[in-house]
Amino acid sequence: MVLSAPRRPLELRDLPSPTPGPGEILIAVKVCGVCRTDLHVADGELADAKLPLILGHEIVGRVAARGPGANRFTVNDRVGVPWLGWTCGECGYCRAGRENLCERARFTGYQRDGGYGEITVADERFVLPLPAGYADAAAAPLLCAGLIGYRCLVAAGDGNRLGIYGFGAAAHIVAQVARWQGRQVFAFTRPGDEAAQSFARELGAVWAGASTEAPPEPLDAAIIFAPVGSLVPAALRAVAKGGTVVCGGIHMSDIPSFRYELLWGERTVRSIANLTRRDGEEFLSLAARIPLRCEVESFPLARANEALERLRSGRIRGAAVLRVAD
Ligand SMILES: [Zn+2]
Ligand SMILES: [Zn+2]
Repeated sequence: MVLSAPRRPLELRDLPSPTPGPGEILIAVKVCGVCRTDLHVADGELADAKLPLILGHEIVGRVAARGPGANRFTVNDRVGVPWLGWTCGECGYCRAGRENLCERARFTGYQRDGGYGEITVADERFVLPLPAGYADAAAAPLLCAGLIGYRCLVAAGDGNRLGIYGFGAAAHIVAQVARWQGRQVFAFTRPGDEAAQSFARELGAVWAGASTEAPPEPLDAAIIFAPVGSLVPAALRAVAKGGTVVCGGIHMSDIPSFRYELLWGERTVRSIANLTRRDGEEFLSLAARIPLRCEVESFPLARANEALERLRSGRIRGAAVLRVAD
């Protein structure tokens, strides 16, 4: 499925098979997760997208062929391809172990073709082996929702009372990790979204309510997954002194101005950008140990537009994934 221009539906198109270059592998895609970032790219809210583009950065597939010098995997190995597709290895960020901020990074399904298709090519250094206990469809959401969610959770600090704004794919995984760590989860959803609130309670949230409500007690930290800027002052209001508010999305509507008093008391607002390969290794080994219950709604590849629209309107329970091959 190909995006040829922003705000246009994806089109099914036959493309010539790509050839893996040096250090690259050709992957037969089995499933690909649908992420909110895909919507931001499709809507033209992020600059620098390669066009035409095959979206998708939660790719689960099997190695089909290896390019020159690629020897990390063997043919038929099951692998996962995440958002971070390539980094330069030379800039100050890369050298400091912060490759998520690399000046020249290339991202899967954004500046490199991704997984909304039968085959894809990836740089083998950025590909992740997947824990065996997860079926293909359950493993896909780990690759962005889980991984970026995990990076957000680490950034939120060790506090016990964790708020999560927006209870979609990332939240449903992070809530389980936080519960496993012994924390209390407070879930905030769109007002009136009873389904998401009861889903959050099923996954162990001690409280679930509308994002316009105050939690029953002050929080130690909050993570915002919904792309809604007005949630930043709302979350600051909900956290106690010294608390951190982490913005987990790549795009957000404007943040309204707010009184300094909300930030006072050593509260912190920060964002999370991308992932490092180390995040991937850490999170996937944690996912193998816990284990996580990934709730997915799956769609055939040809219905990618419908999956995106359902995600846009908040009508997905857990994560959406595209079934590419059986
Ligand atoms: Zn770099
Ligand atoms: Zn994503």
